[in-house]
Amino acid sequence: MSERRRDPVSHEWRIFATGRQDRTYLPPTDECPLCPSVPGAAPTEIPWSAFSVAVFENRFPALTEGVTTPHRDGFFALAPAAGAAEVVVYSDQHDATLAALGRDRLRLLVDVWAERYAALAERPDVQYVFIFENRGEAVGVTLHHPHGQIYGYPEIPPAARRELEVARRHLGEHGTCVSCDVAARERSRGERVVVQSDCFLAYVPFAARFPYELHLAPYRHVTSLLHLTDAERDDLASILQRVLQAYDALFGFPLPYVMAVHQEPVADGDWRSISHLHFEFTPIHRSERRRKFLAGSEIGAGEFLNDVAPEDAARRLRTAVPAMGAR
Ligand SMILES: [Zn+2]
Ligand SMILES: [Zn+2]
Ligand SMILES: [Zn+2]
Repeated sequence: MSERRRDPVSHEWRIFATGRQDRTYLPPTDECPLCPSVPGAAPTEIPWSAFSVAVFENRFPALTEGVTTPHRDGFFALAPAAGAAEVVVYSDQHDATLAALGRDRLRLLVDVWAERYAALAERPDVQYVFIFENRGEAVGVTLHHPHGQIYGYPEIPPAARRELEVARRHLGEHGTCVSCDVAARERSRGERVVVQSDCFLAYVPFAARFPYELHLAPYRHVTSLLHLTDAERDDLASILQRVLQAYDALFGFPLPYVMAVHQEPVADGDWRSISHLHFEFTPIHRSERRRKFLAGSEIGAGEFLNDVAPEDAARRLRTAVPAMGAR
């Protein structure tokens, strides 16, 4: 079964991809499908013997290229699970971490992301390009090899749509982009800033959902990765590295997290003035040993409870950021 169904009460679309139940789950290192193919051994997903960054279509996709037209089953609306599902492998080294790969690799990754954003934007079945990474078994990773993913959704997904609706209202009321306003306020107040650079600010949001949640955004109103200048891409690679190093240093182990990139929808529409590129990192730990679980308030009511003051989280993360210049 591979389809999207719209919940008639919330009007949110949900993806059903039951074929994914059989996907490769935490294979031993010598059977890793994301390692390079070596002569004499069974081929992996990647035909080369060495590579820097590799992108390919997910073999167990949640979304596949095709028609997006919804149809009805009487009262209910459903649609093919159309769209894109790609895997982005960060390195040919099985045990590498993104932070340790260095700035040049991160810079290459920024270019690859921007390139895939542009390529998927051309597809008629893609309305929103979503770049993300699940890191660590704690957030459901099924392959340890360092990698992220890109989904091309056939519609703007709910979290992005909600943000865009608020941004549209803010623009109407104040004449400004809400994310530009947030970046400027956080920068001048400083208490929730984790690290800043010439073009980007990394901060714990004023009303963070997760204890060590962190947002990373450019000061300038840039709508997507594609619209970053070369200098801004360099700067992004460098601040991304510092954020990732801070996460690894915070508790002394690679902190599991979900990384989500929100940027301008590629759907027709007037999105430019309300789309402000940003990364959202949501680690699920609330301390070295304890994790935050989504429970009654979050799942049942959609209201997040957070046990750590964002200002305290920012202070702890700040002290975990390595000195500038460390590679
Ligand atoms: Zn591997
Ligand atoms: Zn903006
Ligand atoms: Zn966002």
